[in-house]
Amino acid sequence: MPSKCGFCNESSWEMHLESPTGGTQQLVFVRCSACRAPVGVLPYHNSHAKLEQMDRDAQEAYRLTHGALASMEESVRGVILYLQRQAQPNDWNS
Ligand SMILES: [Zn+2]
Repeated sequence: MPSKCGFCNESSWEMHLESPTGGTQQLVFVRCSACRAPVGVLPYHNSHAKLEQMDRDAQEAYRLTHGALASMEESVRGVILYLQRQAQPNDWNS
């Protein structure tokens, strides 16, 4: 036996995404598709927004890592130059 709306006695339902006034979160209202009386509310998990945030976080992590690697590469080059100079005889002392 299907569920019946307590207001209009119909038995067809729909899910409808709404942003309640004053709220920051979107909610899914389960409501009668005939008279739109809500019978339940579910949290809405916006996976697209989460994926976009993860993408921004990954790009920031890449940018920071790339900067750190470039800095390390520069330091290693400096060490190599120093070691090469130490290994070579100085022209002006010979
Ligand atoms: Zn109804």
